Amino acid sequence: MGEELKGKLFNQKKDGWKDLEDKEKKEVFEISESYINFLNKAKTEREFIKQAKKLADENGYRDIMTFDKLNTGDKIYFINREKSMYLAIIGEKTIEEGVHIIGSHVDSPRLDLKPNPLYEDTQLAYFKTHYYGGIKKYQWTTIPLSMHGVIVKANGEKIDINIGENEDDPIFTITDLLPHLAQEQMEKKLKNGIEGENLSLLIGSIPYDDGKVSEKVKLNILNILNKKYGITEADFTSSEIELVPAFKGRSLGLDESMIAAYGQDDKVCAYTSLQAMMELQNVKNTAICILSDKEEIGSMGNTGMESHMFDFFLSEILNKLGINRPNLLDKVFCFSKMLSSDVDAGYDPIYASVSDKYNAGFLGKGISLNKYTGSRGKSGASDANAEYVAWVRNMLEKNNIKYQVAELGKVDIGGGGTIAYILANKGVDVIDCGVPVLSMHAPYEVTSKYDVYSAYKTYKAFWTE
Ligand code: MN
Ligand code: MN
Repeated sequence: MGEELKGKLFNQKKDGWKDLEDKEKKEVFEISESYINFLNKAKTEREFIKQAKKLADENGYRDIMTFDKLNTGDKIYFINREKSMYLAIIGEKTIEEGVHIIGSHVDSPRLDLKPNPLYEDTQLAYFKTHYYGGIKKYQWTTIPLSMHGVIVKANGEKIDINIGENEDDPIFTITDLLPHLAQEQMEKKLKNGIEGENLSLLIGSIPYDDGKVSEKVKLNILNILNKKYGITEADFTSSEIELVPAFKGRSLGLDESMIAAYGQDDKVCAYTSLQAMMELQNVKNTAICILSDKEEIGSMGNTGMESHMFDFFLSEILNKLGINRPNLLDKVFCFSKMLSSDVDAGYDPIYASVSDKYNAGFLGKGISLNKYTGSRGKSGASDANAEYVAWVRNMLEKNNIKYQVAELGKVDIGGGGTIAYILANKGVDVIDCGVPVLSMHAPYEVTSKYDVYSAYKTYKAFWTE
């Protein structure tokens, strides 16, 4: 009797793998496999947007700029400077009743090349880097790194760079001290063990074959680059080159229940929401998918969510529906709902002390809702209204989606943020809602395949609501 009452009254987080039917289990593994394949082609924001455009084009989406007029059912997108993207399906209801937004980000922590990166020291050539986003620097040494990005020459010619992903490509690495001589380094605090300025990438060691000239190794490297891409050293000043782990996303565990891959924060939510959107047909409220950039460095700049580019996209929809009028955009925001689809810190039993286990997100228990983020007394948080959380719970429960409500870690232990507050500040009802991750921001992050599936189901249900 007590057990029965407990079952009725307790809020028990359900194990996703338990009682999973064969058919559904198959779907869990299928979507995870597509996700891994997508990730391996989309390690940077530019690559993600390129793949997303391809998928959208294949599924009948068109650039909003090619439309004079929009109608119910139209599938549109807008790409902002190759690094962020908004997609939408025009709903049956009038847009004044609000839009349903799912917003993730496609940038991930990494190392960027400095504007003047190339130097030679003691017959070794290096690229200097400046890290992007919150990284633990020691994790980025002695691993294979690949080079991705663009170099734009002064005449506008753009060269795509992608070295280190194919089996026969060379890779690059950042060296670290041998333990035999690391006595001093090992006494330092972990955060000071590797200096940011020392994250220099080893890229060459053969000198240019001419006895008189100085900096022969640097010259040889520039000569190789000049022959291959037609560039000179000055062209690096107008480039965006990112160093990311060269290893592939893979299934993890003897039971293959998990995924290890670079950049899952937040490409796991970006991919699952994008995939869900591709399968939508008719929606009541206009459905919008945001793939934003620069979240990892505070969402600033014209490809980040703090810019007015998203307002521009919505205004363009209002214009092309032929209904725009002063302040209509504000009204649309006020009646809109959003899932800020960003990853959550998964509970790690090895580092249990940072989490409150009653309020943590666990791997394999489904999508994780964070009512608020922030730090030190919810500072900087967008705290979702109870009414809206209830609406989201109802949507999930109606669709038999297992979910958990969590917070990032113990009180005062740290904190973080997402793009949630940016849309909430415009009047949208927003809650953070994503996949729990282990080793977040590390070169190799871990997720559960069940949670990837759960995210996909959640996003689809939200737009279908
Ligand atoms: Mn994130
Ligand atoms: Mn992050």
